[in-house]
Amino acid sequence: MKHAIAVFLYVCAHYLGLNLLLKWWNRDKVRILMYHGIRTVELPTSYSTQVTQEEFDWQLAYIKRHYTPCSSEALGDDSKKAKPYRVMITFDDGLENVYTDAQPVLARHGITGIVFVLPKLSIERECIWTDKVYDLLVHTKAAKLDLTIFELGRHRLEKLSVVERAQLAFSLNRKVKWRPLTERQKVVAAISEQLAGRDYSIHPAFRLMTPEQIQELAAGKDIEIAPHTQTHQILSSLTPEQQREEIQGCREQLDQWGVPRSRVFAYPNGGRRDFTDQTVEILRENGIDYAVTTIRGHHKPPGDRYRIRRFDVSDSTSRWEFRAKLSGFYFILAWIEDTFLGGDTHKRPKVKQ
Ligand SMILES: [Zn+2]
Repeated sequence: MKHAIAVFLYVCAHYLGLNLLLKWWNRDKVRILMYHGIRTVELPTSYSTQVTQEEFDWQLAYIKRHYTPCSSEALGDDSKKAKPYRVMITFDDGLENVYTDAQPVLARHGITGIVFVLPKLSIERECIWTDKVYDLLVHTKAAKLDLTIFELGRHRLEKLSVVERAQLAFSLNRKVKWRPLTERQKVVAAISEQLAGRDYSIHPAFRLMTPEQIQELAAGKDIEIAPHTQTHQILSSLTPEQQREEIQGCREQLDQWGVPRSRVFAYPNGGRRDFTDQTVEILRENGIDYAVTTIRGHHKPPGDRYRIRRFDVSDSTSRWEFRAKLSGFYFILAWIEDTFLGGDTHKRPKVKQ
């Protein structure tokens, strides 16, 4: 659906009272927002996983005014006493700017959030590989990128604008995502070698929290720290043994750091095909009672506890869209678009000027 038409419909929904009606209709559901980073530093283009601190502040104020912020306790609570209009805030990956830029805003509003962390990557001071590919492409001064040995083409970068380079990063990430781990690592290493040589240091917006920062947040009252695996592999692409290493290893490392045990887990990538029944079994063995996905929608407790829906809030989420996602109007439009208009809103590229 064209962006302008979608905005027009969101505005109509607001002024015609549709948002209010749907908010009431969905009153027993928990709206789980999925954030990644909250940034105060500029990036060369809009980047879907990084919301500005100013916008995050507005969003929390809006939630406080119109909804009921809640903690992870709400995930299984379908009792009569459960409050209506519940909203839960989650952050995937454990970026450092959650510590520096999100936590103070959460504390100011008195809202708690869940942060899903990757202990092994934190220890190794690594970042999420997709962020790295974006960072390398938008910041490089190199003139070309040759990935022909991986069948990913040869690219003349000096001819591309920064937005086109960001789009190239997204398209490379999408193509590489499902390749075996060792091959994917080779692709990322080749991109890094050609675009940054030995000088590469990760942009502050993409750094993960240090183990000390994770422990500090866990000891405070604004954040619940929860597992997101050790290294962010797509679990369905791993053997059961490797899955166990990722899930149990993550839990054991968090235990070792003295992080209070969380009953919630987030699947890396989080789509329907990104985990298996075996994954759920391993989660159960590790004391996990709830697992959140990136399948979009609201969650009606108790529901399917290992396929909990969320929705993303990104750099390109306008305030109108934000209101429509909370009320549920957004999901009706997305369903109409996907079913009747041949759209695939879930896979829509998220780069804009
Ligand atoms: Zn993630």
